[in-house]
Amino acid sequence: MKKIYLDNNATTKVDKEVYEAMSPYLNEEYGNPSSTYEIGKRVKDEVSKARENIAKLFNTESDRIIFTSCGSESNVTAIMSAIKANPDKKHIITSSVEHASIIETLGYLARNGYKITFFEVDEKGRINLDDLKNAITPDTCLISVMMANNEIGNIYPIKEIAKIAHDNSILMHCDAVQAAGKIKIDVKDLDVDYLSISGHKINAPKGIGVLYVKDDKNFIPLIFGHQEKNRRGGTENAPYIIGLGKAVEMIINDNYKLAEEEKELRDYMEEQIKKNIDDVFIYGDLENRTPNTSSIAFKGVKADELMLVLESFNIYVSTGSACNSELAVPSHVLTACHANLDDYSPIRVSIGRYNTKEEIDEFVKVLINNVGMLRRK
Ligand code: PLP
Repeated sequence: MKKIYLDNNATTKVDKEVYEAMSPYLNEEYGNPSSTYEIGKRVKDEVSKARENIAKLFNTESDRIIFTSCGSESNVTAIMSAIKANPDKKHIITSSVEHASIIETLGYLARNGYKITFFEVDEKGRINLDDLKNAITPDTCLISVMMANNEIGNIYPIKEIAKIAHDNSILMHCDAVQAAGKIKIDVKDLDVDYLSISGHKINAPKGIGVLYVKDDKNFIPLIFGHQEKNRRGGTENAPYIIGLGKAVEMIINDNYKLAEEEKELRDYMEEQIKKNIDDVFIYGDLENRTPNTSSIAFKGVKADELMLVLESFNIYVSTGSACNSELAVPSHVLTACHANLDDYSPIRVSIGRYNTKEEIDEFVKVLINNVGMLRRK
């Protein structure tokens, strides 16, 4: 049975071109990019090219790009920077559907004297900008909102939120980990102060991230040291940086055609499911979602049971964010959407670069053959 992987929001396969670009830097060109001799300089040049690619993807200058170890580190660095840049302000605003790296960091700050406002979303996971405006106080130093949600795919109005933030002299961070490669990200147009992405969501390896910083006056390192222009200590992970540079180059060259193809497959899948199975509910803002994501529920079917049945057919989906799937608690995103999880508990299907129509047809066939049996249980 061929494996059908439909969990690309959890992580993606490293692309062959990415792997080939990075592999010489693991065992042949292994110099330290900070070394001044030739083999170090060659690696440094490749790291610089990767940085330029990422700057191009974001429409910024390459010195605004800092490499980190992951999306979570980028998120935490942005939050810690913003609070250190504003030592007199003790209030942060965020949404109730952010990634754990944001929620847990803000939880820590809440236990240490900060006031945190988690503004609510409606049943489709949409945010109300008036709620956001009403939460602002003279003590607010940061607004952090994701560009795209990892579970339901909702896309949030970052440009509008950044304007509200700046009109009130507040810094703005955006977690764009699930948006990269799927939605155009122009940091000048968005006018955010910080923006995070992660390699492993875009066919580069796990363990490499990027933080965009608009102005170094609002930046303080999380890890001190001389690398990354004194902004992030630790010998650069050159092979992974080079791999990420290649993955980003592929996105630039492809000009989001892949995202369109993923959307076609996702829409085809939802159409086939709705045509063949009764009582289906899709979570999220259906008109305004990332092109690859579907949070789909079948009335009376428990998502974890369906996930196990699918696994027995070598089909892989998830029941929520991979980061909290080990915890036996309902997803905070679905809870925030007031989801009726007793009747409609969703699986998350997230399509990626290598999925085919044949795989979607096979997946839908397995659903058609098994949803009824799971309902009768
Ligand atoms: N932000 C979002 C929205 C994510 O989905 C994830 C990963 O699932 C992260 C941040 C964290 O990225 P990383 O796994 O690179 O730490």
